[in-house]
Amino acid sequence: MGNNGTVKLYRDEAIVLRTQKLGEADRIITLLTRTSGRVRAVAKGVRRTSSKFGARLEPFALVDVQLYVGRSLDIVTQAVTQAPYGQRIGSDYALYTTATAMAETAERLTEVEKEPAPQQFLLLLGAVHALATRRHAASLVLDSYLLRALAVAGWAVSFEDCAMCGNPGPHAAFHVAHGGAVCPQCRPPGAAAPAPETFQLLGALLSGDWEVAEAAAQRTRDEASGLVAAHLQYHLERQLRSLRHVERV
Ligand SMILES: [Zn+2]
Repeated sequence: MGNNGTVKLYRDEAIVLRTQKLGEADRIITLLTRTSGRVRAVAKGVRRTSSKFGARLEPFALVDVQLYVGRSLDIVTQAVTQAPYGQRIGSDYALYTTATAMAETAERLTEVEKEPAPQQFLLLLGAVHALATRRHAASLVLDSYLLRALAVAGWAVSFEDCAMCGNPGPHAAFHVAHGGAVCPQCRPPGAAAPAPETFQLLGALLSGDWEVAEAAAQRTRDEASGLVAAHLQYHLERQLRSLRHVERV
């Protein structure tokens, strides 16, 4: 990379968030890069069977890319597969819808093009890896990812102390607009009253305590997922399209 005005190439590691058709043979690839944040770039000729790297730029793939700074969109000039997560995830519908919901969230949380978001990159990479390797149940990976990605974006939830006054928990009530757990004094009308185990699971998903998370019963996971979805929806102001299609087994 140079700054003499003539060399306009840069390299980065990236996760493919989504791809869109462009013209006859090209695609627009939305990437979440390790150092440059979210980048939309054109991959020329990738829909031709002769394309050198078309298959490498599929959703959720981890790639090493070289880009040329274009006038409006950058142009992908090279792509080398680092991890073929796209193939592994694409062959399983539940994993695919889960990864799609994560990629949409990552895109929404990195609204400014090329604003560095290294923590969002690392979170998504960890979640996509966990999905592709079937390390944990897909719904737990998704909820853990959403809680952490929202926290990194500045929307942390409290599952222990009162989100309003800091009163030490655990508490019995939960209110999305107030930031999570609320004590009896701060509890607003309409607050939810999740089971104590649900608070415990949510805390475990946020901190990455997988032993506790995997031990949770299905009804606890379902209740936690509902609260995570409400939290996400509240902050993104609209429900993610793909979240509705996620299969929660
Ligand atoms: Zn309080």
